[in-house]
Amino acid sequence: MVEIFIDDEFYSEEEAKVSVYDHGLLYGDGVFEGIRAYNGVIFKLEDHVDRLFDSALAINLDVPYTKSEIIDKIIEVLRRNELEDAYIRPILTRGNGNLGLDPNKCGETKLIIIVQEWEPMYGDLYSEGLDAVTVGTRRNSIDALPPNIKSLNYLNNILAKIEANAKGADEAIFLDNEGKVSEGSGDNIFVVKDEKVKTPPTLNNLKGITRSTVFEIAEDLNIDIETTNLGLFDLYTADEVFVSGTAAEIAPITQIDGRTIGNGDPGQMTKKLMDKFKELTGEKGKPIH
Ligand code: PMP
Repeated sequence: MVEIFIDDEFYSEEEAKVSVYDHGLLYGDGVFEGIRAYNGVIFKLEDHVDRLFDSALAINLDVPYTKSEIIDKIIEVLRRNELEDAYIRPILTRGNGNLGLDPNKCGETKLIIIVQEWEPMYGDLYSEGLDAVTVGTRRNSIDALPPNIKSLNYLNNILAKIEANAKGADEAIFLDNEGKVSEGSGDNIFVVKDEKVKTPPTLNNLKGITRSTVFEIAEDLNIDIETTNLGLFDLYTADEVFVSGTAAEIAPITQIDGRTIGNGDPGQMTKKLMDKFKELTGEKGKPIH
């Protein structure tokens, strides 16, 4: 039986409920994280909890726990559910308010932690490559709802996914209001051109923890990554494109807006980084975190 944590109590899937006055439900007023456990070991847990606190700070949300308390609770939820390979979802909502917007009318911040058994997000597409499309919906502008905040308001991302689904594509790629490449609907994006790896700076996208892992892996392999603005042209003319995310892991993109990327198969650089990522997360060896 799944055990879901809400404010220091554990509930079954059927019993785990929030109020209709929860501001996370009413307004997307809250923050969250998506975290992986590989072989019973939680990957980059501290980094995720740091980002959760940064997101909370950015929306002026009081967190009635210390970082180490949240770390302990996440570990406890994973252990209680006896899962080795899992996806973990901690959520902080502003709590119960009224139908007005005012966050001051909300009670205590609510902490929810859900875990579920891991299922690879893209199945066979890790070897075949994803078909992606750029979408008309622009990424939330940095001066409206900064994409660095991992807030419960994911409607921007869902609108992108709706467009990708309508076009029969596997993933959506966002541009920002200036036409610069931002990120995928739930992952960061990289291009490879003439053996050089490039990715946009993290102003118009989420500072992905897997993105940082790609930088670490690349350093290990003596591969340079340039952080630079990218446009549509860079996507269409890349030799390789891949995305990175906790749920997506590292996934090759082999088609964008009907253009074939490289020779249409996952590229050598992408495969090298994917292999190293597997090694790091323990799928081929021992987990290190
Ligand atoms: N961008 C968005 C919009 C995301 O939702 C995610 C997933 N958290 C990412 C990028 C990748 O971040 P991470 O590698 O930390 O999962």
